[in-house]
Amino acid sequence: MKPIYFFDEGDSKNKKLLGGKGAGLCEMTRLKLPVPPGFIITTEVCNQYYQNNKKLPKSVLAQVKKNIAKIEKKTGKKWNSKDNPLLVSVRSGAAISMPGMMDTILNLGLNDATVDGLAKKSNNPRFAWDSYRRFIQLFGKVVFGVDDKKFDEVLENAKKHQAVQSDSALNDKSLRWVVSEYKKICEKHTGKPFPSEPSEQLELAIKAVFDSWKGERAVVYREKNNITKDIADGTAVNVVAMVFGNMGNDSATGVVFTRSPGDGSNQIFGDYLVNAQGEDVVAGVRTPKPVDTMEIELPVSYKQLVSTCHKLEKHFREPQDIEFTVEQGDFYLLQTRNAKMNAASMVKTSVDLVKEKLINKEQAIRRLHAEQLEQLLHQTIDQTKVKSFKQVAKGIAASPGASSGIAVFDVKRATAMGENGAKVILIREETKPEDVPAFFASVGILTSRGGKTSHAAVVARGMGKPCVVGCSELKIECEDRKCIANGLTINEGDAITIDGSSGIIFLGEVPTIEPQITEDFKTILNWAQKIKKIGVRANADTPEAAVLARKYGAQGIGLCRTERMFNAKDRIGLFVEMIMAKSIQERNVVLEKLKELQKSDFIQILKAMEGYTVTIRLLDPPLHEFLPNPEELTNKIHKLEQQKSSTQLEEAKTILSRAKELAEINPMMGHRGVRVGITYPEIYKMQIRAVFEATAELVKQKVDARPQIMIPQVSSIAELNYIKRIYDEIKIEMEKKYNQKIKINFGTMLEVVRACLTSDELVKTAEFFSFGTNDLTQATFSFSREDVEEKFLPEYLEKELLEKSPFQSIDENGVGSLMKIGIANGRKVKPNLEIGICGEHGGDPSSIKFCHKSGLSYVSASPHRIPIAIVAGAQAVLEKPQKTSKKPKKKAKKKSKKR
Ligand code: PEP
Ligand code: MG
Repeated sequence: MKPIYFFDEGDSKNKKLLGGKGAGLCEMTRLKLPVPPGFIITTEVCNQYYQNNKKLPKSVLAQVKKNIAKIEKKTGKKWNSKDNPLLVSVRSGAAISMPGMMDTILNLGLNDATVDGLAKKSNNPRFAWDSYRRFIQLFGKVVFGVDDKKFDEVLENAKKHQAVQSDSALNDKSLRWVVSEYKKICEKHTGKPFPSEPSEQLELAIKAVFDSWKGERAVVYREKNNITKDIADGTAVNVVAMVFGNMGNDSATGVVFTRSPGDGSNQIFGDYLVNAQGEDVVAGVRTPKPVDTMEIELPVSYKQLVSTCHKLEKHFREPQDIEFTVEQGDFYLLQTRNAKMNAASMVKTSVDLVKEKLINKEQAIRRLHAEQLEQLLHQTIDQTKVKSFKQVAKGIAASPGASSGIAVFDVKRATAMGENGAKVILIREETKPEDVPAFFASVGILTSRGGKTSHAAVVARGMGKPCVVGCSELKIECEDRKCIANGLTINEGDAITIDGSSGIIFLGEVPTIEPQITEDFKTILNWAQKIKKIGVRANADTPEAAVLARKYGAQGIGLCRTERMFNAKDRIGLFVEMIMAKSIQERNVVLEKLKELQKSDFIQILKAMEGYTVTIRLLDPPLHEFLPNPEELTNKIHKLEQQKSSTQLEEAKTILSRAKELAEINPMMGHRGVRVGITYPEIYKMQIRAVFEATAELVKQKVDARPQIMIPQVSSIAELNYIKRIYDEIKIEMEKKYNQKIKINFGTMLEVVRACLTSDELVKTAEFFSFGTNDLTQATFSFSREDVEEKFLPEYLEKELLEKSPFQSIDENGVGSLMKIGIANGRKVKPNLEIGICGEHGGDPSSIKFCHKSGLSYVSASPHRIPIAIVAGAQAVLEKPQKTSKKPKKKAKKKSKKR
């Protein structure tokens, strides 16, 4: 195992070993671009460090020493030198970029002697002492865990004492004082002198970067972003010779994207700061300038930047995210990586890069993050309504989409309130990586400082959450829980709206509208539709949802949950009446009324999906779910008893007694699905009739209606046959009534374990199968789908007993095995059997890939996830097949069929 790679020894291929940052630096070195010399300690060493009880192997430290000597040679500078000291940065870098989630230390190698060397060599004591104080601050925070506030207080005092406003106005005398105070803070914290030996500093820094891999923010970030071990396993450490953007007004530092990460347009986008270090731009401490102004301020460097951007894009065939530094006119690259962009820019750049012939259509689809596409279906401000809302301020539009919520000025409160279901807009002066949990809990983020590449902007964009940054008009008073701008005050708890596309902040809840699908998005979906083999249908229960799903590209409905129709305000009363009926005759009277309502719903849904299959599932939940909760009823009865309202009291008492009669200890495994159909056949009869009548009427209108009827919770062929007999009787009755043949397929869900195991029996009656992976997961794990996510699942994830929630992504080994049995046994009898999936997993990219590989006919997902399913379906086709056997494969004779 080679523990260390000098930049000229690696390339961009092995990101898992070298980390994304390291691999990028190696590749740029190979391309002869101006990268300061440095080396990478691999992710394997990181894992060794953890296995070794957090100790660095001696051999690695010896290698570090050798590679430092190599940097000395390349730069002509000397480690721990009083004359021309070599300083380094120590940076984290995992296979996948995790912006701001792990630690970095700059200016390492400074001590009381080398600082003088730096002052002499640069002829700029102020710069040297500023670098020193930055080093102690970052080192103190990262290595020793000192609270940043303590350093900030010292810096504020120094500014007050010298009577200046900004950090950059502090002179070297003040900075010397700051350094000595900073050291005292660290020494008080650790009880030891501040380490002055550069090699000791370096060892501690390397360990601290490795430690940050398992730091809370990194762990949360990986969990929320599904970054599993096979994607990134440990961080690498990059040790790079320092170059300085804070050496005067001919020096600068900046972060740019080669194309706009907001809309994907082909122009350099980003910020820079003159006389500053990289941290200043990223942390949003000073509001940076847009990169276009660099053309005037530093024209030669700007030209170099532009030509570098072109070179890198051409080489990587991907828009890049670049960090650069100009040191006294010399241009250096400190990082390049594929730019993290929102869904809109990913789609636009996919289409543009194909037009520019940098990639082909397949590559254009492959590079998309399917999960992200839902962002494109986000809300925007309704411009026709916006006039009646007061505009508070305008900041920098950092992440598009509009959100309304209540203003909250504190990270902990925002997290707690958001997790309790409140729609929260987090307002802060600036954000730091440790604030990320509040991002997840908020519907939008607003800051008064920072630019488009500040922490808040980058993280919010990655999450697809609306975000406005650098809103300097806003005077935020976090302690008093309010902010003021242009004479208007927002107090904590007030409703506000932020528009991440324009940067505008409004008082109140501004109405929003459904997004439009752009031409580029249509192009992408079109390409993906042609590539994918698996069908994509929608889970839709209303005509509106069916229309929306079709607009997004669904080719049919895989699940229409008929019970949702009974929950509507105008129906629930009738449904309760039906449950309360004292005889079949009485029940049939109510069912007749319900049939008319269902029929009209079916007519509209079938019309909206004309030409495509619509799978209508008969009633699934237990009946008591439709009755008021017994506890509420008991309270109501108490109140009515006090009011002496006898008729209502009697009614409430009867309902309570029926609710108690129907109550079950374990309703999800109780009297539901086909079991209700068997014990109350009149309910299923009504639903089957409604489907037949709707179809017959549409056929008369020459509408190509294609319904099929699906039975839930089936566990045996006996159950299925019981309902099939009812279906057959009604079919005969209906064909006679309408004097026409009516073709409606009859099928079953596979959501009970026994159904999967006996699918060879079920298939004799069923004309199609559909996996209900929500219930199947529940049954396979014996995890209650209602409770698990808020009870012990988070701890399971945290303790790495599960990598992902099995309710979100199919558990391939368990649930997946049952599915494979169900498919194989079914298709053994009917090789062309239609088999789909309609659990929530139908909209999850990795589950879709599993479904494709397992030979399912289609996935069914909620309307907003249809584009995700289409793209993930295409990506499944484009995925490289995994090598499983050494035998040469026979050439397939026929092309695989489109499903
Ligand atoms: C399922 O169990 O996966 C399913 C689609 O049915 P429901 O979620 O309605 O129980
Ligand atoms: Mg189910």
